[in-house]
Amino acid sequence: MASRPLSGAGKDKMKLAVQLVRRGATMLGEPCPKCGGIQVKYEGKVYCTSHEDLSSVITSDRMSFDTVVAGMREVLLSKLNEASASLGAEKDSAKQDQVVSLMAKYFELLSKLPKDRQSP
Ligand SMILES: [Zn+2]
Repeated sequence: MASRPLSGAGKDKMKLAVQLVRRGATMLGEPCPKCGGIQVKYEGKVYCTSHEDLSSVITSDRMSFDTVVAGMREVLLSKLNEASASLGAEKDSAKQDQVVSLMAKYFELLSKLPKDRQSP
């Protein structure tokens, strides 16, 4: 029996496959028709974990405009939440003024973000 050492690349591919599954991809029961590798289905497309570059799938997903906007909205909302909490606790009127102008900026930015999944 020929034993092959585990290649690092193979391990990375498995990691990427696991990452995709965590993001909602499903493992398919059928092997890849080209190379016999494990296939996963992600966002309606089937990818082979062996011969296809899953890292680009993950990277392009991470960098999509929607993802960035969603992340920004989350950050801004949590900052607004923090700011409003600190405004409630702040007794110094000069600092209150700072917090309020900061919140106004957050609000402005939030209002400029495209709305969630609404068609024009
Ligand atoms: Zn394949």
